Amino acid sequence: MRVILAVLVLVLALAAVPIYLMVSSTETVLKLVDQPKVIGTKTPFKVRAENSHGVRWMTVSVAQDGKSSDTRVAQAKVQQLFPERGAKPVEVVVNLGRESTPSLHDGKAKVTVSAVSNDFMGKTTSVSFDVDVMTAPPRVTADGVQHYINLGGSEMATFTPSGAWKEAGVQVGDRKFRSFPLPGHPGQYFSLFAFGWNLPTDTPVSVFAGNPTGAVAKTGFWYKVFPKKFRQSTIPLESMNLQRLVSQIDTENKIPGDLVQRFVYINNEMRKQNNQKLADLRFESENKFLWNGAFLPMVDSTVESRFADDRTYTWQGKKVDEQTHLGFDLAKLAHSPIPASNDGKVVLAENLGIYGNCVVIDHGFGLMTIYGHMSEFAVKKGDMVKKAQVIGKTGFTGLAGGDHLHFSMMLDGVQVNAVEWWDPHWVKDRILSKMDVDLKTDDADAPKGGYPTPKKKGRKKKR
Ligand SMILES: [Zn+2]
Repeated sequence: MRVILAVLVLVLALAAVPIYLMVSSTETVLKLVDQPKVIGTKTPFKVRAENSHGVRWMTVSVAQDGKSSDTRVAQAKVQQLFPERGAKPVEVVVNLGRESTPSLHDGKAKVTVSAVSNDFMGKTTSVSFDVDVMTAPPRVTADGVQHYINLGGSEMATFTPSGAWKEAGVQVGDRKFRSFPLPGHPGQYFSLFAFGWNLPTDTPVSVFAGNPTGAVAKTGFWYKVFPKKFRQSTIPLESMNLQRLVSQIDTENKIPGDLVQRFVYINNEMRKQNNQKLADLRFESENKFLWNGAFLPMVDSTVESRFADDRTYTWQGKKVDEQTHLGFDLAKLAHSPIPASNDGKVVLAENLGIYGNCVVIDHGFGLMTIYGHMSEFAVKKGDMVKKAQVIGKTGFTGLAGGDHLHFSMMLDGVQVNAVEWWDPHWVKDRILSKMDVDLKTDDADAPKGGYPTPKKKGRKKKR
């Protein structure tokens, strides 16, 4: 008898913990990660359910016009047979929208997430939130202008997006260029865009407008791309003072390898990082025109390298690297004053790897000018500058074989051929004629006799 009693007590004692766990119930904590305000065809969102007893199942339903879809959009697996303390949270990604709930139409709807605790009581916890269903893509109509585009060059398009749109602009291949309201034309937008030097000439160009759920409308417009052959050159590293170049950039000797490996790292990896930093400056561009008239080249300089020159680097007769030179190398006397190419705001004035001491001026709406290898700064970040104002002096800081200015232009993060912007006729025809803004078309700041194109050629091998 005593033995039986003892066994019974033991069994009861052993069962007490699971029984307690089954009878006691805990509230499930539901956390909605990136809760959507708008849903479309297939809008993902994440739900996290936390319950120390585990979650038996979870449902996500969408209700519209008083009817609930009430389908188990998501069902989490039972955590374990018997409840246990310390169960891990359950996380599910749910796709909301017309694909999973075909009856949905554009308008208001309510999303409800419910979870049932994995214990005896099976307690249900729910949260609801309102969403807008938006499946119809916006519309967009492009201007009727003919667009002549040079490979590596810039162009402007105007267009009218309508319907519920959030993002609109010009798309060239995979690359999207932002748009801004066209001054004096309510409802119309404009986009300054670049046709990247490295794109095939048959890369598609279109205007687009996308709604918040990702539905996109695209419309083509008339354009013609003119191919351009960029120059090619081979640079034997033996012809350069590698020791000086490498040590003035890698001052603390942090890059591993021999001199050639260190040079290739700088020319390759560091170039990539520096160009990314330049491209990211587009987010600091002002939403207004800061410039007027054509851009100013460094007058009376010798052009030593041009935009998109393709350079092959060799060591002991073997190719060790290949890079595209995205700018103009303009040489004058050593330590020549550098004029600001146009009115704008200094967004960068610091040492930037291969570019050495570098200034970037923002001219508004994503258009920027870049000045590299400077020996001296005469401006600092945040300064407003006028066209032709001296911003510093030429030098050979960074990856430069001799004293010169590396000059480049950038449109919404893509480096473009500055030749177009140096040409007052191009600026007038391609940009200013398409908008009614008070930018001077005949240029009061122009040097007498117009803008000289920089003199051709001279020494080679600058970077
Ligand atoms: Zn250069």
